[in-house]
Amino acid sequence: MPEPLIYDIGAPGRVGVAFPEPDVPLADLPKEHLRKDLPLPEVGELEALRHFTRMSQLNHSILTGFYPLGSCTMKYNPVINEETARLPGFAHAHPLQPAEMMQGSLAIMYHLQEWLKEIAGFAGVSLQPAAGAHGELAGVMMIRAYHQDRGDSKRNKILIPDSAHGTNPATSSMSGYRVVEIPSDARGNVDLAKLKAECDDTLAGLMFTNPNTLGLFEEQVVEVIDAVHKAGGLVYGDGANMNALLGICRPGDLGFDVLHINLHKTFTTPHGGGGPGSGPVCVANHLVDFLPGPIAGIVEQPKDGDAPVYGWVSPAKTIGRLKAFHGQFGMHVRAFTYILMQGAEGLRAVSEHAVLNANYLKARLQGAYTVPYDRVCMHEVVLEGRWSDAPEVHALDIAKRLMDFGFHPPTNYFPLIVREALMIEPTETEDLATLDAFAEAMLKIAEEAHTTPEILQQAPHTTKNGRMDEVRAARQLMLCCEIPREVEAA
Ligand SMILES: *Cc1c(COP(=O)(O)O)cnc(C)c1O
Repeated sequence: MPEPLIYDIGAPGRVGVAFPEPDVPLADLPKEHLRKDLPLPEVGELEALRHFTRMSQLNHSILTGFYPLGSCTMKYNPVINEETARLPGFAHAHPLQPAEMMQGSLAIMYHLQEWLKEIAGFAGVSLQPAAGAHGELAGVMMIRAYHQDRGDSKRNKILIPDSAHGTNPATSSMSGYRVVEIPSDARGNVDLAKLKAECDDTLAGLMFTNPNTLGLFEEQVVEVIDAVHKAGGLVYGDGANMNALLGICRPGDLGFDVLHINLHKTFTTPHGGGGPGSGPVCVANHLVDFLPGPIAGIVEQPKDGDAPVYGWVSPAKTIGRLKAFHGQFGMHVRAFTYILMQGAEGLRAVSEHAVLNANYLKARLQGAYTVPYDRVCMHEVVLEGRWSDAPEVHALDIAKRLMDFGFHPPTNYFPLIVREALMIEPTETEDLATLDAFAEAMLKIAEEAHTTPEILQQAPHTTKNGRMDEVRAARQLMLCCEIPREVEAA
C-alpha cells in the first residue's frame, strides 16, 4: 500500500493554523488576480504533524542506519554543531546588520576562512558558494577572469578526466568552455600522455579530483599539474574528496590553483534535506584578487592587544557576488564548531580512520566482488556489482537488496568508467561492528547472486514500498495532486 498523499487526508474546512487578528485595516484584493480554487490540502495541525512524522520514518537517514553513499561522505554530524548554530546571537543575526553589530559572526567566518586555508594549503578563500557545484562555478569563473586579465584570450578549453563528477563538465560548459575528456589509464590514474597531448596555448585549465572518484590517489598528481602549468593553464581541484586528506596532504602544496571544499561532506554540516550546502572556494596567491566577495576580513588591528575589528573586504578584481548576503552562515558556524572540537590532531585522525575503514571493507569484500582498480584505496572503494556466471544480476539489484538488511545502498553506476559500479564510502564515524555487519550483508548478497538471483531482482522485500519504477518516477514526476483543468485555466 503506498502512503496516502497529504492531499488524500483531511476534509474541507479543516485548518491547522490560527492567524492572529490583523493589526492593519482589511483591504479588498483585486478579484481578477485570485485563483477560483486552490487545491491545497485542508488538514488539522495533528493530522499534518502525523503525516510528516510518518513520512520521515519511511526515510533512511544517517541517524537510522549506515549510509555508505560514495563521494557524498555521509558521516555523522555532531549534535554540538546544532547547539552552536542555534545560539541566539548567531541564529537571530540579520545579514544586513552593520558590521560593528556582528563582530562575533564575522570573527567566526574569518577564523573558518583561516582554518580552511591552513587545512587545504591556500592563500585565500571565499565562503560565499552555496554548494560544491557553486564553488566549482566560482573557481572556473576565476580561471577565466585570470586569463582575461592577462589579455590571454585564446584559451577556450578545459580538460576533465573521464572519472570526474558530472558537475565538472557542467560547470565548464556553463562558463563557456569547450570540454575535452581525458581517459584514465590501467591503474586508474589520469592518462598522462593523453593529457600532455592536449596541453597547448588554447588550454584554460584542468578540473582534477584527487583522490579521484575511483577512491584512488593520483600517482602522477604533480606531473599532471606541471604539464598544465607549463602550457599556461590553471588547475581546478574538486575538493569534495577532502575527507581522505585532512592533516596529511594539502592540495595547495601539490600545486592546485583553486579548490572547493564541501562543508556538508567533510566538515559535518547537514546534507540534502537536512540543510543547505556550503562550498567555500580556496585559491593560491595569483587568484586572491579574483575571489567572490565581500569576504570577512580584519579592517583594524589595534596595537594594544585588543580584539581586532572585523569587516567586509572586497577583493580588487573580484568576479563579484555569487550569493545573496554572506553564504550559508549557519553552516559556517557548524563547520567552525567541528574544526574547533577536532583540533589539528583530531582532523588528521578523521582522515586516517576514513581511509582505514574503506580499506577494511575492501579487504573483506575482495574475492566475493571484483575490485577493478586494485590498489590501496583512500576514503572510498569502488567494486563491480557483476559476475560473469550471474549475468542477470546488476548493481541496482545489489543496492536494493542491501535495503533489506537496513543499509542505505552505496552510490551505483558512478564513476561511469566502472561497469556496474558500487562506490562505497564508509566514513570514519562508523565502528567495526557496523562495518562487519555491512560486509556480512554484502557477502550474503554475493552468494545469493549465484544461488537465488530472483531474491535480488525482486528486492527490496522488507521496506514499506517495494521496487520502484525509477524511469517512470523520473519521467512522470508527480509532486502534488492533479490540478483540475478549470483551475489551471483560470
Ligand atoms: C558532491 C560532489 C560534487 C558536488 O558537490 P555539491 O555540493 O553536491 O554541488 C562535486 N564533485 C564531487 C567529486 C562530489 O562528490
